Amino acid sequence: MTRDGRAELTGKVAFVTGATGGIGRATALAFGRAGASVAVADLAEEGSRETARLIEAEGGTALALCCDVTRSDDVKAALDRTVDRFGGLDLAFNNAGIEQPVTAMVDLDEAEWDRIAAVNLRSVFLCMKHQIPLMLERGGGAIVNTSSGAGVKGIAGQAAYCAAKFGVIGLTKAAALDYAARNIRVNAICPGIIDTPMMQRFTEGTPEGVARVVAQEPVGRMGRPEEIAAAVLYLCSEPAAFVIGHAMVVDGGQTI
Ligand code: NAD
Repeated sequence: MTRDGRAELTGKVAFVTGATGGIGRATALAFGRAGASVAVADLAEEGSRETARLIEAEGGTALALCCDVTRSDDVKAALDRTVDRFGGLDLAFNNAGIEQPVTAMVDLDEAEWDRIAAVNLRSVFLCMKHQIPLMLERGGGAIVNTSSGAGVKGIAGQAAYCAAKFGVIGLTKAAALDYAARNIRVNAICPGIIDTPMMQRFTEGTPEGVARVVAQEPVGRMGRPEEIAAAVLYLCSEPAAFVIGHAMVVDGGQTI
């Protein structure tokens, strides 16, 4: 940690998915400020480039990558390009995700179930499957996977999203046990209601929509993406060396 309490990641290489806005962009920027070289991987190519530009504008080092995290070949190609450019991989934030429109379980169609499961859960498996061998080559690493408050608590109308996000925690804990002895730490982050493009779609940007979600937050406000980024950086840093397989809830009290 630096004297002002920030993580010190100089010389590390970080890979971030879902980084065109919201939590992913804030975390990619935080990795850059902490001194890591940052690979920014997202389906939205222009958004990835913009995040990389923002990191470089602050004096950091970044690589923009176009990658569909539901496709194994895409993920592998993005990681290969990261290693070609930066020489290896130390840190990963597997964060890409999509929301579920509020739907009672029986009314959820099968294609929607598959899409939500693929982006929110299969992607985390694929990312770790290709990241861990690269980290083993470096002698270790740290991975943080994005779950949710919906990964620790059932939410009406969110069956597929909850199933995927609970799944991320199970996958995180099992992978953490598989690799703890080989110096790879795998943890999950469970954000509460965070003010991001996803949440703006969910509330439809209306005062009523915002009031409805803020009412779920004992702290009386939405979280900021930077508040999640700070927790992710901690989980990736040396002071968290003994934190393994943890699902860290950062949610303003939403799921207490
Ligand atoms: P966001 O919509 O702003 O960002 C999601 C990112 O994922 C976007 O950059 C999008 O382009 C990318 N993405 C979507 N599908 C992809 C794919 N197939 N391949 C590659 N990239 C893809 O959302 P956010 O709120 O910043 O969410 C980030 C993560 O946090 C998600 O996993 C979300 O489920 C989770 N989360 C968000 C909240 C919240 O309140 N915002 C709460 C809990 C968990």
